[in-house]
Amino acid sequence: MQNKKLDFISKIMIQGLLVTFIFMLPDIIFKLFQSSPIKFSGGMVTQIFLFAILSSSTHSKKFRYFLWSFWGIFMTMELCHFAFFGSLSTPYTYIWMMSELKDTFDGALHSIHLFYAPLSVIIPFVLLFWIDKKFDKNIKRSKISTIILSIALFYMAIDVNRQNRAFFYASERESNPTFIATTRKTNFIIFKAIPKLLFRGYNTNFKPYEITKITSPEKINIIYIFGESGNPNFFSIDSATKQTRQDKTTPHLDNLKNDATFWYSRGFSSSVSTIYSVMMNFYMQREPENHDVQINKKSDILQLVKNAGFKSWFIEAQNTSPDYKDKIDFVYLIENEVNKNGEEIALNYFPKLTELSNKNFILYHQNIMHFDYKTHYEKFGDKWKKFKPSDNSLAEEKISEYKNSVFYWDYIIGKIFNYAKNIAEKTNAPTYVIYMSDHGELIGENKRGHSILSKEVATIPMFVKCFNCSNVNEFKIKNPTHYRMNEKLLHIIGYHLHNPNDDGKTFYINGKSLYGDDGFITMTD
Ligand SMILES: [Zn+2]
Repeated sequence: MQNKKLDFISKIMIQGLLVTFIFMLPDIIFKLFQSSPIKFSGGMVTQIFLFAILSSSTHSKKFRYFLWSFWGIFMTMELCHFAFFGSLSTPYTYIWMMSELKDTFDGALHSIHLFYAPLSVIIPFVLLFWIDKKFDKNIKRSKISTIILSIALFYMAIDVNRQNRAFFYASERESNPTFIATTRKTNFIIFKAIPKLLFRGYNTNFKPYEITKITSPEKINIIYIFGESGNPNFFSIDSATKQTRQDKTTPHLDNLKNDATFWYSRGFSSSVSTIYSVMMNFYMQREPENHDVQINKKSDILQLVKNAGFKSWFIEAQNTSPDYKDKIDFVYLIENEVNKNGEEIALNYFPKLTELSNKNFILYHQNIMHFDYKTHYEKFGDKWKKFKPSDNSLAEEKISEYKNSVFYWDYIIGKIFNYAKNIAEKTNAPTYVIYMSDHGELIGENKRGHSILSKEVATIPMFVKCFNCSNVNEFKIKNPTHYRMNEKLLHIIGYHLHNPNDDGKTFYINGKSLYGDDGFITMTD
């Protein structure tokens, strides 16, 4: 009995491993023909392995063949998309392809690369069906596998609707293996996109954005800081902040209060969670459901910066950034270094005077102020522990830690002002420092963190400071948002964005989906 059990387990493991390899083969073969960033992480191989064991041991031949055919077809389509566009698809690609079927085939027939995609899938899948048939008697099958697999598929159907996973399912990371991407995407299409399309409907009435070129200065420096978890209630510069005003958390900003070349305001972020804010901010997606903006990339800030002839640097203290490949001249991924040595290490990567050109764009994506607040300054001992909790409660503890991290952040901003002043003088060019937080942060009693769709979580600090110019009046907006601030940024870069969907007074706070699937708040000036 014991031996029989062991025999069953070892056989099922072997067939699982073999089928895992077959599921991985399309990506491996495809890579022989065309370079692709697809990578197999341990976690992904484990997922593939579990599906391989379950699907190969499923006792129902019909069920098994249906699932494998399904995967085979979708993996082919996925690789076709990769061969043609150089990126993985989104579910909406399929919906778009269905409505533009003729154009899709016309385009497809003209690309020789597309030939490799079906070839990469057909070979392994023919092998899979052949082995399944040939060794039918040796392969272990069980009703339990059919039941577990059915439950797993059913769970995924609930999962895609229950959790805020729309982005991860919908906009696949380019390094995901085709098997994983296919599983998630078809899950999203079948259980989320199609039902929504049929019953509630996606808003597809958006008109395309238009970008026009306008005059811009011949010499200009821009330092664009995209911050993390900023809550203006704890910024002493924020005049709406009453209870904490006595706490000087932002002395460098406070000093500039009456300076015509400085403007601070609280405003609203595009979303309440980092990755969605990053995507919406850098592609200037104003409407929460207008995912087309992410695909056609007309208002891609980094691309426009490049097109305008800027020399560019990207100092990245998080790994949640938009696609910067080919758009930025110098990229520094410093997350590990920041974790070890503190956020001010970022300043070491700002370009030297001799490296600057006539037009310079320095993008700095911060990590400081992200929960857990104390991790940003604790490594320096007592140096940044300026604010102490007023009682022993957890809320007070977190408030004081947050204030300390704001205080440390302000110190770094002060250093950036010194840097900006210096390059403004030496290059004799107007030099802008623009700061916006990616989203707000809940701090206080029973409230912590972000990612919850609310006006409060989207309330953020933002400022503009200019050196070697007379004022920053063009940035003074009534209800500043990521989008509105970026419109102004485009003006100084040399572009005008005309968005036919924008009435000039409505703005949105999006949840955790670039399709508006996670809900959004509509606001007016
Ligand atoms: Zn964030």
